[in-house]
Amino acid sequence: MSTTIVPENGDCHHSPAATGDATGAERQLHIAEAITLAARLPEALQETGIYVEQLAARAAQLERQTCTGVPYWRDQDAPGRRPKLYLVHGVGQPCPLHGAPAPGRRLRTYIGVDPHRQQAAFAALERHTHRQHLLAERQRLAWALRDARIALRRLLRDLGYDPDTPLNTRRPHDPPEEDLPRPPDPLRRARP
Ligand SMILES: [Zn+2]
Repeated sequence: MSTTIVPENGDCHHSPAATGDATGAERQLHIAEAITLAARLPEALQETGIYVEQLAARAAQLERQTCTGVPYWRDQDAPGRRPKLYLVHGVGQPCPLHGAPAPGRRLRTYIGVDPHRQQAAFAALERHTHRQHLLAERQRLAWALRDARIALRRLLRDLGYDPDTPLNTRRPHDPPEEDLPRPPDPLRRARP
C-alpha cells in the first residue's frame, strides 16, 4: 500500500472512504441516503408502469394515422410546373394509411400539388416518427422495469436476505450465539 498523503486543502482523497472502508459516521450517511432513495422506489415503479401503458396506448392510437413512406418530389425544378409530391414506401412495406403493396412491390402514393394534401401527408410522416419515439421510450422503460426486479433481488441477496422469503429474515450472516464457538469471520474482524 502507498503512503497516505493528505492534500493541503484538506480535500482528502486518501481517506478510509476512498479505500472502501467508510467510517461509522459515513456508513450512517450512506444508510440514511439509501433508505431515502429506497422509499421513492414504490411510487417510481408504479408510475413508470402506468406511463409505459400510456405510451403503448398512444402509439396504438396513432398507428392508423401514420405513413411509413418517404416524400419524393417531381417537377421540383421544371420551369412552369408545380412540384408534385409522392410518398414512396419500401419494397413490401405496408402503410397504415395507404395500404399494402402487391408482393415484392412498393407503394407509390400520389399526393399532388394541393398544399393542404401535402400538409396532411407531412403530418402523417411526422406522426410516424413521433410514434417510433413513443415505442422506443416504451421499450426502454419496459426494460428498466424488468431490470429493476433483477437488481432489487440481487441487492437483497447482497445484503444477506432471501428475496423469495416474504419476511426480512437474515439468513446467512446471523451473528453467532454467545455460547457457541465462533467460526473465523473475516467480516467481523474487519470492523473497527
Ligand atoms: Zn403511406
